[in-house]
Amino acid sequence: MLRTVLNTSSSTTLPISGLNRLLSVGLTAVGDACRVARNVQARLETTRKILKSDKSPVTVADFAVQSVVAQRLVESLPDTLLVGEESSGLLRSDAEMLAAVIHAVREVWPEARESDVLAAVDLGNHDATASAYWTVDPIDGTKGFLRHGQYAVSLAYIEAGEVVVGVMGCPNLSADFDRPFDQPDPSGLIFSAIAGGGCFVRPASAAHAPSQRLEASAYQGAMRVCESVESGHSNQGDAARVIAALGASGAPARLDSQCKYGVVARGQADAYLRLPTRGDYVENIWDHAAGMLIAVEAGVVVTDIDGKPLDFSRGMGLTANRGIVCASPRFHERIVAQIRALEI
Ligand code: AMP
Ligand code: MG
Repeated sequence: MLRTVLNTSSSTTLPISGLNRLLSVGLTAVGDACRVARNVQARLETTRKILKSDKSPVTVADFAVQSVVAQRLVESLPDTLLVGEESSGLLRSDAEMLAAVIHAVREVWPEARESDVLAAVDLGNHDATASAYWTVDPIDGTKGFLRHGQYAVSLAYIEAGEVVVGVMGCPNLSADFDRPFDQPDPSGLIFSAIAGGGCFVRPASAAHAPSQRLEASAYQGAMRVCESVESGHSNQGDAARVIAALGASGAPARLDSQCKYGVVARGQADAYLRLPTRGDYVENIWDHAAGMLIAVEAGVVVTDIDGKPLDFSRGMGLTANRGIVCASPRFHERIVAQIRALEI
């Protein structure tokens, strides 16, 4: 069956059976990656972390997960092109970090040698110029990872500028909506989606276990919002103005990473607002590709703050977009209109 039977607006070329195969490989990759990330987090106090040139932190887990994901992709799909957040430069100059990464990777890739791990990390060096490629954020929300909060292993396949497969591991996110986001869940979840094929969730410990389909939320109460923990990543003051004007229920829930897309997709919140903190920031494709598809396939509307669709056809950055509004159809238009009215 061709995908176009399911989604006639799509310009993609792979048949649904092809996308299902990519999804299956992606689920294996993210499932193994979640295992590695959880093990590194269990030893976090002794985990090496360094600052990248942009002053953002990077840990053993970022490199270990990128190499495991790349390895799982390439062993099933030898022509894999991957745009990854990390590259091996820092790792090659830090023997202690490299040894810890190899140790972490061997949990799921026992025969990995130093050269294999470095090559796998560097498989992520594609520059998003091909017509189809994967993109991975190995540990999205590294600050959440470091504070034992939420983080995501985010993997997506982009074809002809459209995200067509998304897999998002949320190792610390509970199936129980009442569990606070800063209390890591012992199992975690994996969300997944194929364009036109719906959104599914399953335990992170069983990437190929039967999954539950997420349907549009039937919630009818006041708007519940979520946003970044980091005030440098999303303008929390502007969000408070939007929320006050629209009469939301309580203060926004704060959690790190693309897990926010999953939280809206499953109807736990009605909106994820990411409002720019500075005019020149360009969002990275790996910070949004998987999460966006997962939310959209659950019936959520995702645009930038001007109401424009996210444009994944422009390389590694969402250069045509500013910020993110991910919200249920009940609230999305009103939020965008309010952002415009407040001249954000
Ligand atoms: P979150 O956990 O939602 O706060 O998002 C984490 C991501 O924010 C990281 O992966 C960074 O790529 C990204 N980031 C870094 N600086 C900024 C910024 N000024 N505005 C928006 N996102 C940012
Ligand atoms: Mg990220």
